[in-house]
Amino acid sequence: MTTIQHTQPVLIDKFNRVVDYIRISVTDRCDFRCVYCMDDEMQFVPRAQLLTLEEISTIARAFTELGVKKIRITGGEPLVRRNIIKLFEDLGSLPGLYELVTTTNGSQLVKLAQPLKDAGVKRINISLDSLDVDKFKRITRVGDLNQVLAGIETAREVGFEKIKLNAVILKNRNDDEIIDLVNYASERGMDISFIEEMPLGVIGDHDRAEAYYSSDEIKRDLEQEFKLIPTTETTGGPSKYFKIAETGTRVGFISPHSHNFCDQCNRVRLTCEGRLLLCLGQEHSVDLRKVIRAHPGNDEKLKQAIKDSMLIKPKGHDFNLKEQPIIFRHMNVTGG
Ligand code: SAM
Ligand code: SF4
Repeated sequence: MTTIQHTQPVLIDKFNRVVDYIRISVTDRCDFRCVYCMDDEMQFVPRAQLLTLEEISTIARAFTELGVKKIRITGGEPLVRRNIIKLFEDLGSLPGLYELVTTTNGSQLVKLAQPLKDAGVKRINISLDSLDVDKFKRITRVGDLNQVLAGIETAREVGFEKIKLNAVILKNRNDDEIIDLVNYASERGMDISFIEEMPLGVIGDHDRAEAYYSSDEIKRDLEQEFKLIPTTETTGGPSKYFKIAETGTRVGFISPHSHNFCDQCNRVRLTCEGRLLLCLGQEHSVDLRKVIRAHPGNDEKLKQAIKDSMLIKPKGHDFNLKEQPIIFRHMNVTGG
């Protein structure tokens, strides 16, 4: 990754927020079926409707030429998409890109951690909601905890600059594991972020309002065991960070309900079908697949469509756990 200095940001929305980060969902498929993310009966996007890896590269390059500095590859489970390492290699050599990162459930890392590192990925996020085999299966429906733990060990061995764990905490499912998860991260020199469940898509498993466990409750639980020092650190995302005084571990809280973060939003999302979503919690979008398929090889049309999209980036989300979801897209389509 070489660096090009953009003196003037190009992508600026109506609220003067600079967009310099894109999250790309490369597939909506996954080898897990986490209860907060998917229904147990999911309809996946037909393969012909998915962006090809070449189309994803073209769109990613256009974004970097418009000043985007960070790309996160996500899904679904990004590492189950065929030939995915080729995409990482292509993106890893894009001029102007400072950071190529990914979010994974960890199931493929024994095999793919080294190729990811070799392609230029420096930091990875791995989702881990439980350290108990049965609870892990209950939350992921089909996941194998030991496979994920082995993947985390491989990721540590290949030497990424940073590994961060992500945990979604649900009341009466895994809220008793908060301290164990922090200890697990601390002992391995990893950071951890706790995410409040968001109402994306209809899920059959539980009532989201009943399972809600707030960041403030998680923080209160941690303070029974550790001293938490607030930090002003930011990774350019919605996490609020604290440091555990005893271990130096960084703990983040992503709190879409209790602490809205929209005023500093710097990101957009590309779905696996090529829909550019301007907000996680709203439906404002532009069909970039249509643009590139109508004008193959015409990067200017693509870039103009991206620039124009800034006009419809909404001010923020208005998630409400007590109502039926107004967003019918599941997180695996959106790209978390
Ligand atoms: N499969 C990968 C994984 O699980 O890390 C990447 C995609 S997943 C959609 C990205 C992140 O979104 C994960 O950390 C997951 O826990 C989180 N997530 C999924 N559905 C969510 C929801 N409804 N609310 C909050 N976080 C969610
Ligand atoms: Fe798959 Fe990630 Fe969704 Fe779990 S959170 S079902 S691992 S995409």
